[in-house]
Parts: sequence; C-alpha cells; structure tokens
Amino acid sequence: MKPRSNSTRDSRFKPQGATGFVLLLLAFGMFSPSLTPTSQAAEARWWRGNLHTHSLWSDGNDYPEMIASWYKDNGYHFLALSDHNVFQTGQRWSEIKKNSGGEAAFERYLRHFGSEWVETKTEDGKQLVRLKPFAEFRTLVEERDQFLMIPGEEITDRYLSAPIHMNFSNISQPIQPQGGKNIVDIMKRNVAAVAKQREETGQPMMIHLNHPNFGWGITAEELMQVSGEKFFEVYNGHPTVNDPGDATHASTERVWDIILTWRLGILNTGPIYGLATDDSHDYHAIAPTKSNTGRGWVMVKTPHLTAENIILALEAGDFYASSGVELADIRREAGVLTVKIATTPGVSYRTEFIGTKKDFDSANQPVKNRAGEKLRVTHRYSDEVGEVLATAEGHTAAYRFTGDEIYVRAKITSSKAKANAVHKNERESAWTQPFF
Ligand SMILES: [Zn+2]
Ligand SMILES: [Zn+2]
Repeated sequence: MKPRSNSTRDSRFKPQGATGFVLLLLAFGMFSPSLTPTSQAAEARWWRGNLHTHSLWSDGNDYPEMIASWYKDNGYHFLALSDHNVFQTGQRWSEIKKNSGGEAAFERYLRHFGSEWVETKTEDGKQLVRLKPFAEFRTLVEERDQFLMIPGEEITDRYLSAPIHMNFSNISQPIQPQGGKNIVDIMKRNVAAVAKQREETGQPMMIHLNHPNFGWGITAEELMQVSGEKFFEVYNGHPTVNDPGDATHASTERVWDIILTWRLGILNTGPIYGLATDDSHDYHAIAPTKSNTGRGWVMVKTPHLTAENIILALEAGDFYASSGVELADIRREAGVLTVKIATTPGVSYRTEFIGTKKDFDSANQPVKNRAGEKLRVTHRYSDEVGEVLATAEGHTAAYRFTGDEIYVRAKITSSKAKANAVHKNERESAWTQPFF
C-alpha cells in the first residue's frame, strides 16, 4: 500500500539534532548533503500481528511466553497480550493444579523453557508457579526486525447486560473500565481515558472496539457516534462473538459499512478501520468451538517494527485485515484502486469493491419484535449502504473511482477453506481499509 502519510510519519524518525550536526559537518566541508543520515530511506514493508490475545494473567489457558513463542514461530512479527483489566506487571503466583492450564500446560511450559527460567514454590502445601511480567517475558522472544511485543490490555467494561470490551494497545499504565451512563457514554469515556494517557506520556497508543456482536453488545448507531474510536474488529476468531450476525442482528461487515457511510457521508467525523484478531484463550485443544490462535490478524505497512511505527501506520490506514489471504500491494493512484494478491497455486480469488454512493438512500428503520417493540439492535438500511460496486476475479483487481462514491473498500475472498474455521463454509479472506 502506498503510505498516505509517509512524510509526516518519517519526519518523526529524523534523529533529534541531526540537522545541526550535518550543518556543522557541511561547514567544515566534511559531509555531502546526499549522505544526510536519516532513516527516511527505509522501505516500508508488511508486518504481521495480532492485537487481541489472552494469557493466564486473565482467562487464557497458557503462559505468556508460550503464547508469544507460538506467534513468533508461526510467521507473526508483533503481538499484544491483552488480558482483561490487567497488565502483566508485578508479582503474581498461580496454583499449577487449579489454573486454567492445569498440570499439562505447566509440564509443557517447563519442558519448553527449563527449570532455570520457570519459577515455582510451595506454599501451604500448594505448588505455585510465577506468572512472569511483561518486562521479563518480552526479553525471551523479542528480536530486532523479527518480533515485537506490544503492551496491551482488554478494558472490559459493560452496561447492564451489554459487554463493552475495548483493547488498549501500547499502554503505559492499565486503565480500569470507566463506566458511564449508557453504552455510547461508556465507549467515549474509555476512549477519553486512553487519549489522556497518550497526551500525558507522548506515547502513541490506540484503543479499538472489540467484537461488537458479542452478547449483541454494540449497535452500528451507537458506535458511529463515538468519533474518537477509529478502529473495531470486523473479524474476531472467538467462536461466540457472532461476527456473521443473524436474522435480527447485522453482521460486523454490515455494521462497518453503515458506520463508514454515516461518518464519512453525513457526520463528517472520519473513518473507522477494520481489524482482524484472534481473541485466543485456548492453546491446547484445537477445534472450531475453541478460541484458538491463527484465525485473524493485521498486516501493517511501515518501515520499522516498533510499537510507535505500527500504531501510526494503523492510524494512517496503512494496513489490511486478513483471515488467510495475503496481499502484495494495495494502491490508489490516478483515481484507480488496485489490489494485488500474493497468490497460492490452485487457489482462486474474488475481489469485491464495496462502497456507498453519495446519492444513497439513507432511510433506515429500527428492528421490532413481534409485539412491535423496538429492539436495541442495528437498524435496517437500504442495499445502497455498502453495496458491491464491482467484482473482479484473479490475482489483480482494479476499481476506477467515478467520484460518486463516499468510500470504497475491497474484500478479497479465496476459494480456500479456512482451516479450523469457526463459521461454516468460511473461506480465507482479506479486507482492505476504506478509501474516500
Ligand atoms: Zn472481549
Ligand atoms: Zn478478549
């Protein structure tokens, strides 16, 4: 993808004071301007990562360094362990027999890292193991340009029975659920708490809304109002989060198109980007009914594998979400959006360009139950919201903008069945971000 904000982003990496240094060298005739030492020449490349994962620090059933090792060994470059309302810090001891991994997970952990790394003790006749904090386990797996751990947390809030879970990435300090007087207020308050920490620390951070359809927690009309929330999960690998929706509820993809249409076409509050994540909790039994690793991820295009680079690239929209399809390039040039797919032999690909036109039919109706009462679910909208504007087969697909579109995004679906899929007939797919 052609980075849209390259100049702004790269300027951050100019070493402080370098300009003065170069001027000094130039004054002494020692330095040619063409050798100016900046990192601007670094080529952007794709980095694969998962921002939503659980460990024994909350309700995941494996040790953080075991989970991180899986991701590192399986082609990922970055990972956030986002435990519920906790950051992995301080002293934490867990009972080997009673924790959700049990003795089997402990044995595997001990075999993998050895007794010099694994810390145990006996207290009141109980065998305890120390859960290593982030600052310690990151040192085992991190490697320059190979693998990065991003500090994270799942801010796990709720309103009455509606779960409101928001992932906080590149945190400095964990944020406790902020609560509030309704769902929109709660989302806004958590977004504001992250913005405040970002302001105070100067550290790029992001907050994304998780699994909107989990517990049918969040509607499109609610999320569209939270303009500070720039990201949500269009794909979450957990088996009980209802991404496809049902007869009453819109799918997460439908929710995305509704929000994009309103924010970009009516409210003028900017886009919302779509992420794919694992939300993995289960690391031992592998099955469609378990929340396993390897289902959804993001591919981020940026020169450097640092948390700051990754977040700024996500904010610039320089990424795509994937459940298996790999893209070689996404480019918008001279009014044409071109998607190049990194193809696998024997697999076919269909690209749908999805968007809403400026003159779309904006009529929408609340969904009612049999008694005629309005349900708190995403409204029904016309087919002109998020319609398929064009379709292409093959490894390259191009869409020429007519100027009538509010936005256009591409969804690529392959003929390859998704392995260990949660949903029936699921195919490996990828989702670009909207162009507008
Ligand atoms: Zn959650
Ligand atoms: Zn989660």
